[in-house]
Amino acid sequence: MINKITIHWFRRDLRLEDNTALNAALNSKYPVLPLFIFDTNIIEELPKNDARVSFIYKQLKQIDTGLFKRFESGIIIKKGEPVEIWKELVAEYDIAEVHYNRDYEPYAIKRDNGIINLLIDNGIEVTSHQDHVVFEYDKILKKDASPYTIYTPYKNQWLKHYEKVLLLPNKGILNNFLEYRSAFPSINSLGFNLSTIEVPDWKSFNIDDYATKRDFPYMEGTTHLSPHLRFGTISIREILKLLDDSHHVFLSELIWREFFIQILVNFPDVANNNFKRKYNAVQWRNDEGEFQRWCEGTTGYPMVDAGMRQLNETGYMHNRVRMICASFLCKHLLIDWQWGEAYFAQKLLDYELSSNNGNWQWAAGTGCDAAPYFRVFNPAEQQRKFDPHFIYIRKWVKEFDQASYPSPIVEHKTARERAIVAYRSALNGKKAI
Ligand code: FAD
Repeated sequence: MINKITIHWFRRDLRLEDNTALNAALNSKYPVLPLFIFDTNIIEELPKNDARVSFIYKQLKQIDTGLFKRFESGIIIKKGEPVEIWKELVAEYDIAEVHYNRDYEPYAIKRDNGIINLLIDNGIEVTSHQDHVVFEYDKILKKDASPYTIYTPYKNQWLKHYEKVLLLPNKGILNNFLEYRSAFPSINSLGFNLSTIEVPDWKSFNIDDYATKRDFPYMEGTTHLSPHLRFGTISIREILKLLDDSHHVFLSELIWREFFIQILVNFPDVANNNFKRKYNAVQWRNDEGEFQRWCEGTTGYPMVDAGMRQLNETGYMHNRVRMICASFLCKHLLIDWQWGEAYFAQKLLDYELSSNNGNWQWAAGTGCDAAPYFRVFNPAEQQRKFDPHFIYIRKWVKEFDQASYPSPIVEHKTARERAIVAYRSALNGKKAI
């Protein structure tokens, strides 16, 4: 056995700079061995060319190269059941401390609790850190100490707290890494192939026009930060550092992200259930053929089809269009939002359980602070407002104005009325006809 070491466990914090747990590890008395585990409970469900796995892989390789060049160190990569991997590590190394940044998904919390117990039983000091969010799920609470379920008062309270904190990125990086070198595994040896879908770089400088451009999918008006926030390739503190008072609309979106994270932690049942149980009685039609057409983007509604094709081709969809596609699935087609949520989860590069679930429940009307059930987006109206010159649509649905393009899967007015009846009947305890 070599001398005592500290381990930093990388998870959704794939960066060396401004990484809270890594900084704490580097400040420990012992040399730090960075670790990443490809968790088979998560990745075994994924296709072999999953774009998110490719992104993680490339990011880790970059970290490994950086560690070698700067510190003659490297990252240890493992694949397997995390608790089993930890048992092996405990047997192989003399581990004094373990540091990691907290993950708020129910599976991760359960997994981490098991590993904490294992480490403590082996006399190892283990510390989890807050890094992924500005405020923890139990920090922004109502006067009676219960969690907020409505966004606006949550946001107001969040902003009040934010004024009081001096949130600064962690300073430069210490050299306290273990001298460690081993061959970086190939992606094939991990059971995956590189994907042709790439995560685009985030664009910090269009936040000045964000408020005016963000709703128009044909403009480059949003930041593409979402996969970077998801995998921690940038820290939330670095982003906030770029903002001033003129960026309040943008800040509000970051607060939506934290709102949904705290909803998931405080109400973990939302992962598989309607937040508002009174909607459990909605009689979904769940037509598989129609679901297939929605997935592939052949509903005959150009705005919906453009969004779904953008998603299928790039792993990204503009937020406005996500809302339109989600509303269309739940309301026009009366398909259970959980089907749509699962499809987005397979495809989105920025997939986050909290944001995906929160936004799907918002669109379906079943969420904590949701669109009212009788608000049914009119896709043609949305196109007139947000893509008036068909620029976005033409990009993804070249044939939208040709005879080969399918006719609408359902007529808007009929679908709208059918949805309202189905929801209203569920609320009134009657069976929809
Ligand atoms: P920007 O407009 O530049 O926003 C900056 C950041 O603010 C985003 O990166 C994101 O972190 C946050 N943000 C913005 N809008 C929201 C929102 N409505 N809810 C929560 N956070 C927000 N976002 C995800 O990160 N993962 C998901 O799985 C996800 N699923 C969604 C599903 C549906 C049905 C809908 C309607 C929205 C979903 N969103 C999800 C929210 C939003 O669409 C994306 O965060 C946004 O489009 C990402 O692009 P951007 O980084 O360019 O956004």
